[in-house]
Amino acid sequence: MDQKDAHDFLVNRSICNTYSVKTAPIRVLFVKMRILVSNDDGVYSPGIAALAKAAKQFGEVRIVAPDVEQSSMGHAITATRPLRLKRIHLDSFDAYRVNGTPADCVALGMHRWGHVDVVLSGINLGLNLGNSCWHSGTLAAAKQAALLGSRGIAFSTNVSDSREPDFAALEPYVVRVFELLLPIKTLSLVNVNLPEKPKGIRWTRQSVRHYDGKVVPDKDPAGRPIFWFTVTPLEGAAEGTDRWAVEHGWVSITPLRLDLTDEADLARALALSDTPPTKISSKLTQRRSSSKSSSPTTSSSKSTSSRRKK
Ligand code: MN
Repeated sequence: MDQKDAHDFLVNRSICNTYSVKTAPIRVLFVKMRILVSNDDGVYSPGIAALAKAAKQFGEVRIVAPDVEQSSMGHAITATRPLRLKRIHLDSFDAYRVNGTPADCVALGMHRWGHVDVVLSGINLGLNLGNSCWHSGTLAAAKQAALLGSRGIAFSTNVSDSREPDFAALEPYVVRVFELLLPIKTLSLVNVNLPEKPKGIRWTRQSVRHYDGKVVPDKDPAGRPIFWFTVTPLEGAAEGTDRWAVEHGWVSITPLRLDLTDEADLARALALSDTPPTKISSKLTQRRSSSKSSSPTTSSSKSTSSRRKK
């Protein structure tokens, strides 16, 4: 599937469309895939075993994951001490634990295996919606795959204090997500969140309107101040977002990108500035040249420009 086909695929299956999990299996197409599975909850989390089990029918699976929990470590890498990789028994899987972060594990796993078709991360015990994407170790593992030229798909589900997720009930939805995403090779980074009891699947966008992080002050046993940086529940997310989808019982699939550039801001900055655009992109150059706004910062921009020439 080329880029245009993938675009059409996404457009034709907008967030208004839903999917049944009872579609014809197409996994035979993927039997030769090399699938690396990682997570941030640690290699002994039940979520990684569930993900590897679901992935097994799509190709050859190898697990490389942190030896201890690395949740909320984001895309940290270990640069000041050596990493060690040790083989472990994990069902029938070729599995390894690493004394590093999720991003370390994916880098090491891809290096050791050579070619990897797709990296799956999760299934995280806890949702990764909206702003959580910035510090999620689960998503960082998928992101590391995309940065290294492969593809990454992150899976997360909600968890309560009283019970663990019912991974057997979620498996048909995880499999259906594979069937949807794996043929679209242009989707290099995808964030998937599963509610406890899904009623279908929807394409969504990241919700960033609110932040669920909050500092809660407390005292230690000696009366000294301590602080918890914790997550508070958010409600009322906009329709079509990842949070909205999960709150309404849908599996949320959000395609993400590595380029964080705010193109609208960049275009405005280029239109205001007299600085040459230095081949940032032909699209932006065209926008700038077609803009008729006269910049009040022209003289200072000229001096900036002349300073840069020195
Ligand atoms: Mn986690």
